[in-house]
Amino acid sequence: MSFARLPNKHSFKENILQPRALLVASEAIPLVKTGGLADVITALACELKRNHVDVSILLPGYPCALDAAENLKEAGYLPDLPGGPGKLYQGTIAEYDDVSVLLLDTPNFRKRLVNPYVDHDGNEYQDNAASFAALSHAAVAICAGKTSVPVPHVVHANDWHAGLIPALLHVAGIQRVGTVLTIHNLAFQGNYPMDLAESLGLPESLLGPDGMEFWGKMSFLKAGIRYADRISTVSESYAKEILTPRFGCGLDGILNERKDAIVPIPNGIDINTWDPETDPMIKHRFSRKDLRHKSTCKQELQKLFKLQSLADAPLMALGSRITHQKMADLALESLPGLLEKHPRLQVAVLGCGDHEYEHGFAELAKRYPGRVGVHIGYDEQRAHALHAGADMLLHGTRFEPFGLTPIYSMRYGTIPVASRVGGIIDTIPDAGLNGTPPQGACGVLFDGETADAMGAAVDRAIALYEQPAVWLEMQRHSMSCDFSWNGPVRKYIDMYRQVAPQSVRHLFAAALVQPVEDYAELPVYTAAA
Ligand code: ADP
Repeated sequence: MSFARLPNKHSFKENILQPRALLVASEAIPLVKTGGLADVITALACELKRNHVDVSILLPGYPCALDAAENLKEAGYLPDLPGGPGKLYQGTIAEYDDVSVLLLDTPNFRKRLVNPYVDHDGNEYQDNAASFAALSHAAVAICAGKTSVPVPHVVHANDWHAGLIPALLHVAGIQRVGTVLTIHNLAFQGNYPMDLAESLGLPESLLGPDGMEFWGKMSFLKAGIRYADRISTVSESYAKEILTPRFGCGLDGILNERKDAIVPIPNGIDINTWDPETDPMIKHRFSRKDLRHKSTCKQELQKLFKLQSLADAPLMALGSRITHQKMADLALESLPGLLEKHPRLQVAVLGCGDHEYEHGFAELAKRYPGRVGVHIGYDEQRAHALHAGADMLLHGTRFEPFGLTPIYSMRYGTIPVASRVGGIIDTIPDAGLNGTPPQGACGVLFDGETADAMGAAVDRAIALYEQPAVWLEMQRHSMSCDFSWNGPVRKYIDMYRQVAPQSVRHLFAAALVQPVEDYAELPVYTAAA
């Protein structure tokens, strides 16, 4: 075995031993999406691939995912998974650089026709514990070489759905695969009764307080936190917040114990998909230099949400899951007062979530026809229209690991009015509540969890909107922020390098130092030598 220099680009693909990573998650666009996780997984996989990492995404084989993936072929049969036998299929996501995807087809995942986690009434599926334990067991089978998929050097578990992987690898004594757990949202933990342990293939040795026990239950996320080589979170501020009782969701104790293993890596966004200059989902294009067509997009949005066609009415969007986390309750409390106080204010709401809040927004639209438009549902095209056409985005949130939505809005010169928490602190330079905004301000942030604080921030945004020169300056700043994956992907590769087996760390190091389009200097594995 030796390393030689690669002669040309063509042989790179055939010869080189690339570093291998397996991303395990419950969502990835365009196969399945309920939130930002789906965007991040596919974008990260594409970026890793562009940086010469041989990456696959392992996902549950929901019917929608099996339908949407291409070139599926069987890659393994796993007879003993919790909840029934599973077949592993390997395919690609054509729309995203043919990135490789592995789908675990089980009887439980097959039944998930609408939402991956909850039934029609919003209740968690009874078999969630077994289904996601099966996903982790499948990942471990891949790492053990029990399928035709090459054994990865690093397995990257995402959120509680994949949290068991580091623990199960530990139990299986598999040390040749490094492990990373990324916490995209600490509030979702996968906590289940202890008496399920045996049926989930979890041995006694994992179930103590030093393992995955959590208030008398077992926690999939705690299992990941306890046993992963590294724990990453998706922003610097969230990495600090989760160590505190306010944001730690009961896991701040163990997170403090594992503090040295925590690595903050901010998300990037897909800057091609969310680009007002090229976005095929909006009717009129515009740019930081020439914002004229943003007002045409505003007219379109007013039509779409049945709002009065008024060019200079401040139009505020809300576009997210309609939940307690996203302060839907406070928005419903503050909006009537704001609509009375600012007679020209218009509001467009796109989202779905808790039925009680959905109903509240529908009622608001009835009360303020032509001024409040509500679309309950999940709709990618409308989301683009919303970001392109609105003047400002209200994004209240009790905690925010990263916060993709306000960043998408900033790409379109739509000024976020957002809670000062988590990733938002790191990504939105604040105009403050008084005076001339500091140079580079892109949004208005508010503290705390009250309707008054939210209302005061909206007041401030409207006051700034009424100063066109100041507003334009903020729009231009927000549209020029760099949220690409170029920086974050290198941090991921470096983290993989740190946890990968010693013998292959140089492969990650080579991927890291190599300019993306330049294969010439990469080392090549020649088996015969
Ligand atoms: P979270 O992951 O907590 O839901 P983020 O703001 O980080 O919050 O990501 C939310 C993602 O889901 C974004 O891509 C956003 O555009 C999208 N999204 C949320 N609700 C909807 C909806 N009703 N229709 C279309 N896209 C939505």
